[in-house]
Amino acid sequence: MLRALLLDMDNTLCDTHKAVDTAKIQLARHVGQRFSKETSLNADAFASAFVTGIYREWSDSQRSAYLPIIERQGEEAFRKKLIQDLLAEQHMSAITDTLASDLLQVFERARITAFDFYPGIADFLSRIRDTLTLVVITNGPEFSQLPKIAAVNLEYYVDHIIVGGQEGEQKPARSIFEKALQLANCQAEEAVHIGDSFSADIVGASNSNIKTIWVRHEQKPDSVSTIRACYTVDHPREIPALVDQMIAG
Ligand SMILES: [Mg+2]
Repeated sequence: MLRALLLDMDNTLCDTHKAVDTAKIQLARHVGQRFSKETSLNADAFASAFVTGIYREWSDSQRSAYLPIIERQGEEAFRKKLIQDLLAEQHMSAITDTLASDLLQVFERARITAFDFYPGIADFLSRIRDTLTLVVITNGPEFSQLPKIAAVNLEYYVDHIIVGGQEGEQKPARSIFEKALQLANCQAEEAVHIGDSFSADIVGASNSNIKTIWVRHEQKPDSVSTIRACYTVDHPREIPALVDQMIAG
């Protein structure tokens, strides 16, 4: 019998791609206007490189520069340094800490304002919570995850929220799925995990013997892994009907 849903947040319950794209556009526009005299500046390229950087898609030299900053000073310090470095690459060397902070704020405000559930998901959570225990497992640092959780008032919709950045290990580690099962007070076979990241959500839950629903979006199936999702949907809008079916079946 199905007793609990384990749920990823980013790009599963909430349209994170859209929020980040909106914030990227606003950051580019702000930088373009603020430094309009700097003819060598490519504001779009800067904003794109910033998003790539915060998603940890680093070069080797970036990795060795940024990991120690994250460990010693935290995520915000890293993001400010990333802004300074990316602008320095565009020949703007005098970016003060305050200015980097301002630009980070522009991005963060836009990101949080644009962050929301996919259509139908809030209603689905409110309805399904009468039947199942709901546990969100979201990877990522507190700096980026806590404001998003607050923005959609996620605590109001689910029973428990686990933030990977506050734990010893993140998805796909077994420990985090074990914690979710404990919180839900159920066995692995009584739960389903829903997520869009094959490597974090589907591989992680499968290794803990939890059934899976993969929210595929445009992704290709992993050709290397022998693991397969139990169910696949193309978009989060298909989640409610599938879960209803699983409860009925
Ligand atoms: Mg996700």
